[in-house]
Amino acid sequence: MGEELHELAARARDHVRYWREAGVTHLARPEVSARPAAGTSEANAGVPSADADPGTAAEALKVQEAALQGCARCPLEAGRTHIVFGVGNPNADVMFVGEAPGRDEDRQGVPFVGRAGQLLTDIIERGMGVPRASVYICNTVKCRPPENRNPLPVELASCEPFLVRQILTIRPKVIVALGKFAAQALCRSEVPISRLRGEWHTYEGIDVMPTYHPAFLLRNPAAKREVWADIQAVMARVGLPGKDGR
Ligand code: URA
Repeated sequence: MGEELHELAARARDHVRYWREAGVTHLARPEVSARPAAGTSEANAGVPSADADPGTAAEALKVQEAALQGCARCPLEAGRTHIVFGVGNPNADVMFVGEAPGRDEDRQGVPFVGRAGQLLTDIIERGMGVPRASVYICNTVKCRPPENRNPLPVELASCEPFLVRQILTIRPKVIVALGKFAAQALCRSEVPISRLRGEWHTYEGIDVMPTYHPAFLLRNPAAKREVWADIQAVMARVGLPGKDGR
């Protein structure tokens, strides 16, 4: 309980610092309660609908990315250089969903290009034996949180309709949810990543394998063994041969 309170207080402090950094000095009640709940038609305003999808998945993703330009749904707008929508094969069998862009990603507008990104690329290319460009990579939150802090619920909720459209457009065979935020969002669960990982879940009928985030692996290399087990399960599910050819 003490630990939970401590965590709650730390989150509240983060929250206040975040709004201050975004230049907000006070919050008017009506504005706060006016934010639409996730999944409602208001929250989906401006998100291209599946009914209006142009022919191919590549075209549909372009429309979605264009619809995000200039997004001001949450205050991350204030600090971003680029919106980091996603990259890769619009018809990928495997889609990786991370947390949020970091400094390098914000500068380049491309997900997973920093140190954690290099490790993810190694997992894909050296581990799975496929080119990075053959999978699809994106994040739960498309703009960089200040100082790489954890995304706040309001930021996750603001970006969620775009992530849902991206997933339903690509309809991969498997989604690999990297780290707590992607895993909890896609498994609709508050269970810690250490318990979600390694087991199959489903999101809109798509298989989801949660695993540890590459940034966590940089700090805890021993956890690579578990990630490798999760990735091997993914490879088996999509029919990629293992190292020994099986
Ligand atoms: N971490 C993420 O979760 N996403 C990125 O794009 C980079 C680092």
